[in-house]
Amino acid sequence: METKIKPISLDSLQEAKNIIFSGGVVAMPTETVYGLGANAFDDGAVKKIFEIKGRPNDNPLIAHVHEDYDLSKIIDYDPPYAKKLREAFLPGPLTLVYPSKGRVSPRVSCGLDTLAVRIPSHEGAQAFLKEVNVPIVAPSANLSRHVSPTSARHVFDDFEGKIPLILDGGECVGGIESTVCDVTGEIPVILRPGLITREMIAEVVGDCEEYTLVPDGGKVRSPGVLYKHYAPRCKTLLFTCENLENAILMYMRESLENKRVAALCEEKRISDFEKIGAKTLNLGKNQAEMAMRLYRLLREAEKICDVLIVVEPTEKEGVMRGVMNRLRKACTSEDVK
Ligand code: AMP
Ligand code: MG
Repeated sequence: METKIKPISLDSLQEAKNIIFSGGVVAMPTETVYGLGANAFDDGAVKKIFEIKGRPNDNPLIAHVHEDYDLSKIIDYDPPYAKKLREAFLPGPLTLVYPSKGRVSPRVSCGLDTLAVRIPSHEGAQAFLKEVNVPIVAPSANLSRHVSPTSARHVFDDFEGKIPLILDGGECVGGIESTVCDVTGEIPVILRPGLITREMIAEVVGDCEEYTLVPDGGKVRSPGVLYKHYAPRCKTLLFTCENLENAILMYMRESLENKRVAALCEEKRISDFEKIGAKTLNLGKNQAEMAMRLYRLLREAEKICDVLIVVEPTEKEGVMRGVMNRLRKACTSEDVK
């Protein structure tokens, strides 16, 4: 199968619509990362998404809809505070998990009685979702466990020959996946941190919890959080910023073993590595920049090095909770040195 990359136009949207309604899969841009889209009502198409990505079949998908879509078609209960969250943040990088009406394919939520719904703000995504006017499941358009894609080229690198069309909407400005927030209980609970932070949500609705990993034997609320994700195809070693010297020593040790090494760190640490003539990847100087560049740099790293030395950014709160969450999952070793 030939994989075409096309800019968003009336023609390419029509082509995308034809593919979707014949049970196929189309990659689409969003403001966070690119998604691999299929019709949420079409069981066969949803199955295809899991197969193409190699996604474990207990990791549920997010249904994407346009801003005027009638949510009552797919969700069973809409708590008043969820409406406040939509008014404040949507369209945008926030996914809300509602009680499901059970109308979409049961594969979407992997048997859970909830449904995750997102209204992306990317203009191209809105145009595509309006064109099809059905909920589109769109997990990140990367092979399962590989780094998420922030450009059409990244999608092509993972799925050339496997999907017919990639709608090209440029480089993603958000850079990390949406915040996933459960709205089935009394107060919102963040299941996956992202660009819409706990503080931002609490400011609108008064309270917000953040879900930490399941205790032994506990119920998993968001299966996706259990999987190692986002990993580049090179050895990745993570160091805290207090351990900068060890990171530099490790860089030198790996280089002496004739490994191709690079260092990924925030802008203010770059000069420490340049002093030893290191190859560096600059994550940026503020939260938005670091979120936007993270996946692009992890994909660049796997092309240019065998070993990536990562130094954690100093700031850990707000948007950086999302960035740190992805960075930790990207590192091959569970231990932070
Ligand atoms: P991705 O599509 O790769 O961005 O991943 C979707 C994320 O949303 C995963 O972390 C899933 O576990 C989470 N998710 C999707 N649907 C649900 C749901 N019904 N309940 C809880 N988490 C969900
Ligand atoms: Mg993903």
